[in-house]
Amino acid sequence: MRVTEHLYVYLWADQTENNCNSVFIEGKTPVLIDPGHLNRTGQLFDRMRADGANPDRIEVVIGTHAHPDHVEGVAAFRAGSVKLTLSKQEDQFVEKVGRPELERQGLGLPPYEVDFYLKEGTLILGKHEFEVIATPGHTPGGLSIYWPRRKVLISGDLVFLQGVGRSDLPGGDAEALKESIQRLAKLPVELLVPGHGPAVQGASRVRTNFDYILKLLLVR
Ligand SMILES: [Zn+2]
Repeated sequence: MRVTEHLYVYLWADQTENNCNSVFIEGKTPVLIDPGHLNRTGQLFDRMRADGANPDRIEVVIGTHAHPDHVEGVAAFRAGSVKLTLSKQEDQFVEKVGRPELERQGLGLPPYEVDFYLKEGTLILGKHEFEVIATPGHTPGGLSIYWPRRKVLISGDLVFLQGVGRSDLPGGDAEALKESIQRLAKLPVELLVPGHGPAVQGASRVRTNFDYILKLLLVR
C-alpha cells in the first residue's frame, strides 16, 4: 500500500507461508528493499501496480540481509536491469557459509551478482537521502535503512512488533543483536517497518515497542 508520498509498504499477511515485508520508494532512482521469495515477486509487482507504482522502474534493490525470504526475488529481474546491493560482510558470509548451508538443507539461493556494497553512512538515491546502519546480530552483515526526513526505519529481521530476530541461525550473535537494537532505539522513528509482521506507526508506539524489547526480551 501507498503510505505517504513516494513510500509504499507491502506487508506479508499470509500466516501459512514465510515471506518478508517489502518496501518500495519511488523517486528519481526507485528502490525496492527486500524483494522477498522469488515465487512471490509476481504478487508483489501486482500489488505495486494496483497502487500506481511501476515495478519496471525499479533501479536499485537493497537486501537488508541475504536470507532467501528477503533476497531470493532478485532473480525476478532481468540481468543488468537493476543494481543489487547489500553489505560486503553479508555477501562474503553468504558465499562462505550461507549458500553451502542452504544447499545442505536441500534449499538454494539463486545466483546473483552484487553491483555495489552498502556501507554504514549516507546513501543518496536520486533526491532521497538515507542512512545505512550496520545492524549485525540476526546475520553478520545485516543492515537497517533509516530515512531521516520521513523518520522511517526499515529494520530487516532485527526487531519486530513485540519481537526480535533469531540469533541462533548460522552467523547469528545474540550480543550483537542486542547492541544493534540499542542503537536503533536511539533514532527518532515515526514508522518502523520490520522484516516480518505488522508495521509500527507513531513515535510513541515505536518507543513503547523498543522499551518492551529492551526491558523484557533482551534482559539477561
Ligand atoms: Zn532473516
